[in-house]
Amino acid sequence: MIDKILTKAEQTHVLTQQEIVTLLQSTQPTVLFAAADRTRQKYVGDGVYLRGLIEFSNYCKNDCMYCGIRKSNTRAQRYRLSPAQIVEMARKAVDYGYKTVVLQSGEDGFFSADVMCDIIRQIKKIGLVITLSIGEKKLEEYASYKQAGADRYLLRIETTDKALYEKLDPGMSFENRLRCLQDLKELGYEVGSGSLVGLPGQTLESLAEDLLFFQRLPVDMAGIGPFIPHPDTPLFSETANGHFELSLKMMAIMRLLLPDINIPATTAMETLHPQGRLLALQCGANVVMPNVTEGNYRQKYELYPGKICTGDTPAKCRACIEGKIQSIGRHISQSRGFHGDYLKGK
Ligand code: SAH
Repeated sequence: MIDKILTKAEQTHVLTQQEIVTLLQSTQPTVLFAAADRTRQKYVGDGVYLRGLIEFSNYCKNDCMYCGIRKSNTRAQRYRLSPAQIVEMARKAVDYGYKTVVLQSGEDGFFSADVMCDIIRQIKKIGLVITLSIGEKKLEEYASYKQAGADRYLLRIETTDKALYEKLDPGMSFENRLRCLQDLKELGYEVGSGSLVGLPGQTLESLAEDLLFFQRLPVDMAGIGPFIPHPDTPLFSETANGHFELSLKMMAIMRLLLPDINIPATTAMETLHPQGRLLALQCGANVVMPNVTEGNYRQKYELYPGKICTGDTPAKCRACIEGKIQSIGRHISQSRGFHGDYLKGK
């Protein structure tokens, strides 16, 4: 049964919701992981793209129940980097050999469209590809970042179960999240999305729907993150049991459905398993986003507890990940890593 579904997936990259659920239920996922690894090799090769992550503010006006930097978490120590500090960190990222920086933050009103555009223009001058991950904005704001030079945008749908989304993200609407993703596509961004795996109340059927949603959009990149309960959030009493393996399965199936997209081995995966990112790279992933935030900020950007490398420097993270990638017979790609570049021979 599993073998038949996998053969179909590898040949056609099309699966029904029921077939995806069957794969997610599998107690012997090794064959699924092997199929995803083959597909990854065939469509995006052995290169791993690195993206340097700058976590520039943990102020947030939203109150997502799962997130450690939610507005109501009074125990979070808030910080905000100045535009000059952000540009300086981007400059250092170039020295460490990164070709892309990802600017991520909570939804912080300090960073108006004008302030963001100014930062984007300065970073573009350095020659970096820019990915933004700063949440829900108006179409005009997305358009102005694009005009200033932003290339990619990451906005996870988190879950395609509308009722669950609206329960876990109070005050936010599922329609608006969809509208944002549509706007970003129409503006010509490379669009990244993704979902959390293991949310309370989430079903395997809804996880399957998440994958079908990414395929329909279609996304250029998608990150799967295991949900890790944060002690200072309303979901403190949940557990992360089983979320690692389920996330690996989600990633593997995503590779089968969207064979040439970029899939990151997420930091949250390594938080739950010491070899998490390497295992992810062997189950379909081809991107890693090492942290290039300096100083003690990275420990304050605590979306979930136990985040790895919070005491490390950007130089250490770069060297560490390079060694790990080489240890599994892969290499760091020197290409800028846009979706489809590998097949186009770039
Ligand atoms: N404000 C931006 C960035 C959000 S933080 C935005 O809205 O897109 C980046 C991601 O961290 C979120 O999209 C969410 O999927 C993830 N995250 C938040 N809380 C988490 C938790 N407890 N466990 C695992 N991942 C979490």
